[in-house]
Amino acid sequence: MTQHYDLIIIGGGIGGSALAITMIKSGASILLLEKSTVYEDLVRGEWIAPWGVVETQRVGTYDLLRSVGGHHLKHHVHYDEGVPREVAEAATLPLDAFLPGIPGPLCIGHPKHCQTLFDEATRLGVTAFRGVDVSDITLGANPAVRYSVNGETHDATARLIVGADGRASATRTAADIALHQDKPHHMFGGMLVDGAGGWKDDVQAIGTEGDFAFLAFPQGDGRVRIYGSYSLDERRRFSGDEGAAAFLEAFRMKCSPENEHLANGTPAGPLRSYFNNDSWTDEPFAKGAVLIGDAAGWNDPIVGQGLSITYRDVRIVSELLKGSDDWSPVLFAPYAEERSERMRRLRFAASLTSSLDAEFNEAASARRANYFARAAADPTLGTHAIAVMAGPELVPPEFFTPEHRARVLEG
Ligand SMILES: Cc1cc2nc3c(=O)[nH]c(=O)nc-3n(C[C@H](O)[C@H](O)[C@H](O)COP(=O)(O)OP(=O)(O)OC[C@H]3O[C@@H](n4cnc5c(N)ncnc54)[C@H](O)[C@@H]3O)c2cc1C
Repeated sequence: MTQHYDLIIIGGGIGGSALAITMIKSGASILLLEKSTVYEDLVRGEWIAPWGVVETQRVGTYDLLRSVGGHHLKHHVHYDEGVPREVAEAATLPLDAFLPGIPGPLCIGHPKHCQTLFDEATRLGVTAFRGVDVSDITLGANPAVRYSVNGETHDATARLIVGADGRASATRTAADIALHQDKPHHMFGGMLVDGAGGWKDDVQAIGTEGDFAFLAFPQGDGRVRIYGSYSLDERRRFSGDEGAAAFLEAFRMKCSPENEHLANGTPAGPLRSYFNNDSWTDEPFAKGAVLIGDAAGWNDPIVGQGLSITYRDVRIVSELLKGSDDWSPVLFAPYAEERSERMRRLRFAASLTSSLDAEFNEAASARRANYFARAAADPTLGTHAIAVMAGPELVPPEFFTPEHRARVLEG
């Protein structure tokens, strides 16, 4: 028998489950379909920017995330081989300075985040399945899905299908929505480490030295999510049996002696590396479908924006759906317009960050030294970075131009 719902959401990751939670509260009937049976550590987003924290509050998941261990960070240090450690630490940024009432970024493990939201959606009455194989997605005037779970095949129809199915979105393919991608700039690997109790629980840090740039985001109790950027020419640098040990060793840096706590830590999950790049869609909707989160295009992970982007997508799309009985494509035009500019600005910020922090030669090192010296005298040079903390819409448009890029990189 075919079941009918208001919404069928394909993908029960962050975006899909968060949307289900907010929409079920408005009385919508929802079918949530998730492919995996277990949320594994895929080395994905675990740091939510302050502007994303605001979005979790507006969507209504913030208290839930805090109740399962969501952990705020308070300080940011930017180390570099060209900057003495004391100078870097004296310039520590207070992370509560970006948005009023927001203590700082929020860290929570990605599998735990997904499971918490999925469980909450189920508790609130969403019809939700795991281990689902979606074999057919029909869009247009009569959206429908065929899926199998527990050896049985089902058909379901809905007023709208939401594609929250991540980077390789089947919904995006079914809707024939083109995905634009830029070229990868460098490799980006990450791993979870335990036993790093010497690293302060509320301090995040980044830094570049030699052929490696690190990022560290503590999650509490000596657990830290660490990332490293390295050259595309060395894409196999951390593969094989010794990869995790070599990755940890790369964190030992003269410019940031505290990194020894990370290097001496124990792997608590897989090491995974990705090409770092950006992608976007012109119109993340079609007749019968709307895309949210990575399915609609993702930002380069170097600036950690994916969760904040996804939560804002959830907030905007849910507000539009709750505010109108007519769910035809024209409803999503304001979402497409806002998202397009948001992603353009974040793409700009990520690209500038990549060029500055993740190029590994003498010229890049000299450029960073020059940048740090100038930024100390003129803090507006780093304004693009405020976009990733406070939200891209809060920064004036002139900081997303080739002129600003040239000012940062060329002086
Ligand atoms: C290395 C790396 C580091 C990152 N670090 C950060 C960070 O620190 N901060 C940050 O904000 N962002 C970060 N991100 C980005 C962030 O993880 C993503 O933007 C975010 O997880 C997107 O959420 P989503 O719900 O759209 O997609 P996903 O998290 O990918 O979830 C999609 C879900 O859909 C399911 N699915 C897929 N296909 C189907 C199907 N056909 N049927 C049913 N279910 C399906 C999947 O199993 C999955 O559960 C990082 C990304 C990478 C690659």
